[in-house]
Amino acid sequence: MTDYDYDLFVIGAGYGGVRASRMADGHGARVAVAEERYLGGTCVNVGCVPKKLLVCASGFADHYREAAGFGWAAEQPAFDWARLIGNKNREIERLNGIYRGLLDGAGVELFEGRARLLDPHTVEIEAADDGLRRVTADQVLVAVGSWPDMPPIPGIEHAISSNEAFYLERLPERFAVVGGGYIGVEFAGIFAGLGCDVTLIYRGPLFLRGFDEEIRVHLADEMRTRGIDLRFDSRVESIEQRAGAGDDRLRLHLDGGDAVDCGEVLYATGRRPLVADLGLADCGVVLGENGEIVVDEYSRSNVPNIWAIGDVTNRLNLTPVAIHEAMCLSRTLYGGEPTPVDHESVATAVFSQPPLAAVGLTEEEARARYDEVDVYRSRFRPLKLTLTDNQERALVKLIVDRASGRVLGAHMLGADAPEIIQGLAVAVKMGATKDDFDAAMAIHPTSAEEFVTLR
Ligand code: NDP
Repeated sequence: MTDYDYDLFVIGAGYGGVRASRMADGHGARVAVAEERYLGGTCVNVGCVPKKLLVCASGFADHYREAAGFGWAAEQPAFDWARLIGNKNREIERLNGIYRGLLDGAGVELFEGRARLLDPHTVEIEAADDGLRRVTADQVLVAVGSWPDMPPIPGIEHAISSNEAFYLERLPERFAVVGGGYIGVEFAGIFAGLGCDVTLIYRGPLFLRGFDEEIRVHLADEMRTRGIDLRFDSRVESIEQRAGAGDDRLRLHLDGGDAVDCGEVLYATGRRPLVADLGLADCGVVLGENGEIVVDEYSRSNVPNIWAIGDVTNRLNLTPVAIHEAMCLSRTLYGGEPTPVDHESVATAVFSQPPLAAVGLTEEEARARYDEVDVYRSRFRPLKLTLTDNQERALVKLIVDRASGRVLGAHMLGADAPEIIQGLAVAVKMGATKDDFDAAMAIHPTSAEEFVTLR
């Protein structure tokens, strides 16, 4: 117990902030959390959860197309975007309610308003219905996340970010995406699956920088087969709004002289930590070159009682990582067990179509770090597709250190890749060897069995 109003004040009620609040409360700390926007943060409201629902929606296009091969004869069903978005919004509201209940149930006090640090122990909260409140706290955790970042090119005000993509009133006939990261690739697949003509524009030679190159090349081929126009090594110089051009109200002027016409353009060119106007500079908190709060392995900033987790630290910007950081922090602060965060072998997935998932090192990373690396791969047509005209092929890949036999990385592109890699992540994290993989009996017939039968 301290003389402050709270032992811990958390700014931001996203996945990380909520988990840290509840765990600290579980250790007996008096906790308050402030949220100015939506409970559950980006992931629940304009991120992972609604994104996955839209991915599921667009996946039905494949199911309907493939059904004929299995004897099902049906008219092409009509798709209703407004109904999908309405249902999605209802589900998000339900989840917001669950988050509120979790905080209430844990006895964490919720301030709905904008919080700002006046000094390292004093927080001012501006709430629409409650005016200005000032409270004190022994420890402060900043978990405010990040926000879409767009380059300042002429006409950028006509572009949308992923935030708006979730609330479009109607689907455009032609949709353009700028950026070759998670969001760009995922939304290109979503809108193509829902029937839009999609162009993805990426400034480099191949999208998804950081993932295994062979997997990226294979995904690009599959996306092209699905009719997505991939423009690599291209930059948008300006966006022109065209009156009287009907659905194609926007024209993107590319650096090579080409133009792309579309009804909407989504910029997915990265996100920036949401640190503006939090009072961090007045408290002496050091920020990095992208505006991120610089923290040590325990998520502590240079100001001893100010901590930060999740996207605002720009370490590994994934929801489960923010949750892990929250759990480590509450153990460090209140569990009597200083716990550094562990960012090794974090499994991740891109919900592209087909999806890709990976854990551990790419082939390129492994070759740079180890003397001799063995690569096992299999390209195959998933059984379910053999009765259809879908020629899609899956790719699985294991990267192995020859000296120790240890599996350094597992990668997959194909249906169910995220589900399969999640299971394999346990083995890779535990240090399993190729012999361990081979000793596991296959489940036949599955795509996952390829991982234990690689020669
Ligand atoms: P990413 O950082 O993943 O990708 C940004 C993309 O935009 C890159 O291709 C980058 O190119 C390009 N880019 C950056 N600046 C410019 C510019 N000025 N002009 C043109 N292109 C540019 O960001 P996202 O927006 O896709 O996603 C944000 C974060 O959200 C990610 O870090 C990810 O962690 C998280 N996320 C995770 C998901 C998941 O787990 N499935 C899903 C969605 C988001 P280059 O590669 O050359 O730098």
